[in-house]
Amino acid sequence: MSLRVQAISKLTSDKPVTVAGSAKITGIFGENVFTLKIAREFLSDEAYKSLTGSIRGGKKIDRTVANQIANGIRAWAESKGVTHYTHWFQPLTGTTAEKHDSFFTIKGDGTAIEEFDGAALIQQEPDASSFPSGGLRATFEARGYTAWDPSSPAFIMEIGNGKTLCIPTIFVSYTGESLDYKAPLLKALEAIGKAAVDVCNYFDKNVAKVTPTLGWEQEYFVIDESLANARPDLVQCGRTVFGASPAKGQQLEDHYFGSIPERTYAFMRDFEAEAYKLGIPLRTRHNEVAPAQFECAPIFEEVNIAVDHNTLLMDVMSRVAKRHRLVVLLHEKPFAGINGSGKHNNWSLATDTGVNLLAPGKTPKTNLMFLTFFVNTIKAVHDYADVLRAAIASAPNDHRLGANEAPPAIISVFVGQYLAKVLSDIETRVGDKFDEQDEAILKLDLHRSIPELMLDNTDRNRTSPFAFTGNKFEFRAVGSSANCANAMTVLNTIMAETLKNFKTEVDGLIDKGDKKEVAIIHVIQKYIVDSKAVLFEGDGYSDDWHKEAEKRGLPNLKTTPVALDAMVTDKAKRLFESNNIYTHVELEARHEIELEKYIKKVQIEARVMGDLALNHILPAAIKYQNQLICNIKGLKDIGIDEPLYRSQVSILRELSEHIQSVHEQVHEMVEARKKANNISDTRNKAIAYCDEVKGKYFDEIRYHVDKLEHLVNDDDWTLPKYRELLFLR
Ligand code: ADP
Ligand code: MG
Repeated sequence: MSLRVQAISKLTSDKPVTVAGSAKITGIFGENVFTLKIAREFLSDEAYKSLTGSIRGGKKIDRTVANQIANGIRAWAESKGVTHYTHWFQPLTGTTAEKHDSFFTIKGDGTAIEEFDGAALIQQEPDASSFPSGGLRATFEARGYTAWDPSSPAFIMEIGNGKTLCIPTIFVSYTGESLDYKAPLLKALEAIGKAAVDVCNYFDKNVAKVTPTLGWEQEYFVIDESLANARPDLVQCGRTVFGASPAKGQQLEDHYFGSIPERTYAFMRDFEAEAYKLGIPLRTRHNEVAPAQFECAPIFEEVNIAVDHNTLLMDVMSRVAKRHRLVVLLHEKPFAGINGSGKHNNWSLATDTGVNLLAPGKTPKTNLMFLTFFVNTIKAVHDYADVLRAAIASAPNDHRLGANEAPPAIISVFVGQYLAKVLSDIETRVGDKFDEQDEAILKLDLHRSIPELMLDNTDRNRTSPFAFTGNKFEFRAVGSSANCANAMTVLNTIMAETLKNFKTEVDGLIDKGDKKEVAIIHVIQKYIVDSKAVLFEGDGYSDDWHKEAEKRGLPNLKTTPVALDAMVTDKAKRLFESNNIYTHVELEARHEIELEKYIKKVQIEARVMGDLALNHILPAAIKYQNQLICNIKGLKDIGIDEPLYRSQVSILRELSEHIQSVHEQVHEMVEARKKANNISDTRNKAIAYCDEVKGKYFDEIRYHVDKLEHLVNDDDWTLPKYRELLFLR
């Protein structure tokens, strides 16, 4: 019996796993987190002060205090049954990494004790040789270190009965180059914090700190585990490389916001409870457009914490799914022909005085502050659209951005009709001096009018990769499996750079004698003119837009290997170096790593395709071919007239043609791979994998395989079909 048949017959006996009755969320929220409240309880005054100073003001923690903090964290963790600890970090592989050590140690005199000292808290040296470094370690002959990030609280990860204390860390080389997603993110947050405070102080001298905020929306698919295990492509690539469209896909749109299937519902409640314990403030859960597709979203948080929570949640979801005999697919495009998954990044800036800088203000002064940050964001996206595009480029995300999916690969900004009008009014009405008309613009009640107008536009702006949604921007082009740190590092860096330049220009005008408000509105006006090309209110999928974007000179890079070029241009090097995010060497290394990741992913998919075609598809097809041959021969032998077995001959002919094509193309694809493998330049190799391997053969082979799926006897087809993967649970 094939795995497919076993998996299907098992389904009827698979009952939902019982999940403990819902506890009140506030009762469990953050119970596995070393929060400041817990810290107050477990730390001395001195240690507590040092810790909060480090979190709030980025102050260094000295070694003796670190010992006290480590002891406090251990005491708390032990009170919860923890025996091991790990530095938890986010290497460039895209997953999280851990190396568990126990508190247990034996002292010089032979006594066995439990210990966790400051040194172990602050720094560790995991065996890092197998994490990607893009040649950095070779260049510097240095090892990798993890270093404690006090701004993200320690937490306890529960796996089965085991509990591990996790210390969030950054991962850097001995000479200080970052080897992970988090180190550059922290630098970008520092850069924007400073640049935004400087600009804020034009409006309010009391603002001392600006913190970027992030609320991500995570889309994912949930599939029965046994069915998924019967698909080697899902197991190895996280997506199906073959599979004919089912009669019913998403055309009825009956899954969107429909009732959540029972097994999935149990799984959701279970992973949500785990998330709450870890302090992840999940808020929303619902069905998505495609069958078996869902979404969850938390309440927004500071970017650094939100990023940690998202990577942590992806891990928790995958583990909890196992308990329910389900599999979570975080891939951007697990199934052809139905919607893919994204991870919308809702982003804004918050001041320590409690103001959301992207929320329209009620008074002329706060309007001007809003317009300043609003227009600077548009300018940043306009000037660095290519760098932003590179930040979200990956082999799986090409299936969304490069194919006719939401959103397109062209980076544009949607602001809604009302604000588009405000911008064009400012553009045309501001004269040489600040007059009554200008004041009229500032007196517009942006605050009250915008939410209503945004509502009307929600349908249209679904196609925009970067949309203003009333009090925040939503970066929609981020991939569902991506670590959002990369997108956030770039977005916050380009914003920091733009705000810095804005301040220089405004100060210049003030020095020349302009009144502050006049100077500000004039630079705003200039930025509106400069960045007009990036504004687009229409349908992002349409052909018209592709033509129009080309006219406007907006890049439309559909594939990762070329989109990544923007990481290493002179412009990008200047941007990242002047803001202390990446050195040239670090950028080159990262570029190399991303290209290598791309190559490996396409290579694995090509191999899996070959394997499935030769070992699953063709044997089933040839078996049917033989049956047809026997049948036709038999009919002929007993003297049946040819017209009566014409159908069999026609099926046989069609079948044979597809068999032939699959075999030939797989063979040619292997040759193309060999050729690509011989290319030594990484970029050229990635392009060869993209154009010569994937581009020439993936769709072609799939076409013939999917035709065979329609022809071959269903009993002999070993791979679970789309209708089963998507609808059976
Ligand atoms: P919707 O997009 O469905 O209208 P919301 O606007 O409430 O829903 O929010 C979507 C996501 O945006 C949520 O994760 C929410 O926490 C987040 N969000 C809301 N305000 C902000 C903000 N100021 N900064 C960052 N994210 C935000
Ligand atoms: Mg949204």
